[in-house]
Amino acid sequence: MSIVVENLTKKYGEQKAVNDISFKINTGEVVGFLGPNGAGKSTTMKMITCYMAPTSGDVRLDELSILNEQEDIKKKIGYLPENNPLYTDMAIVDYLRFCAEIQGVSKAKIPSRIGDMIDMCGLERERHKKISELSKGYRQRVGLAQAMIHDPEILILDEPTTGLDPNQIIEIRKLIKKLGKEKTVILSSHILSEVEATCDRILIINRGRIVADGTSDTLRSQAEGKELLTVKIEAADADVKKALLGLASVETVEPVEGKAGFFSVRSKPDVSSRKEVFDLCVSKKWYLLEMTGHETKLEDVFRELTN
Ligand code: ADP
Ligand code: MG
Repeated sequence: MSIVVENLTKKYGEQKAVNDISFKINTGEVVGFLGPNGAGKSTTMKMITCYMAPTSGDVRLDELSILNEQEDIKKKIGYLPENNPLYTDMAIVDYLRFCAEIQGVSKAKIPSRIGDMIDMCGLERERHKKISELSKGYRQRVGLAQAMIHDPEILILDEPTTGLDPNQIIEIRKLIKKLGKEKTVILSSHILSEVEATCDRILIINRGRIVADGTSDTLRSQAEGKELLTVKIEAADADVKKALLGLASVETVEPVEGKAGFFSVRSKPDVSSRKEVFDLCVSKKWYLLEMTGHETKLEDVFRELTN
């Protein structure tokens, strides 16, 4: 089942939390929404899962639209919301039965579905415990189990590993990878390594817009075409940043935090700004004390796109 998002917009008062985004996710893809806090990831997920109506635009799951077929769509989607709200005074098994009933799983199938979820999410040892007695990692597993109880074709997981310790993170990632073999998955995170570890494709979201879309390799190579230099220039009272930005080969200039005189200089695609930087310093009679090239990391791509 594919997901087509068309010109989706959500306004909270005057603020556009999601601003006219469009993209398509194919059956079986595992896609990561990556973006800083407040980027619009949760809002987008709430609209796709029909928990919130858009201000404008549409999302279609094959022929179903979030504007008209909310109930049908909810049956096809499993959703783990951001804070994983659970009924903590229920035992795991009772809670999963309750979720199965609401999702319309037939009475005859409920026991086997609960059994499958307990196996798949590794809940066997804890199965009779109350949710309030579980650690955060196990609660997250219960959240995943409730999202999948009705065997949906699509899974939408909002920050599934927040608050987990490193061992639990590895376990949940493994589980998501396993699920991704059978289902279309969208997960969100503000942590780059998270989406890199689990997703085939990354959509970077910033201020309600999609600013990049591709595999981690394509995103990295997009940025690799652009040279990144760190320069140190000694120039009393001069506006070095402005002068560097004035060079034809330079795309962006950022002062390096906490290091006086240092600048991070990004060149335009497929050109080098080394010689222009050097010539600029000579003509202005500034001291060029350092000039170092860097390999671009995915972190740089993320920081550049979301700064
Ligand atoms: P993310 O999940 O990427 O952190 P959100 O979708 O939660 O981002 O939020 C996007 C923006 O919309 C933020 O600026 C947030 O403060 C705002 N926002 C989210 N929910 C509401 C709401 N219910 N009312 C008003 N503003 C909201
Ligand atoms: Mg969020």
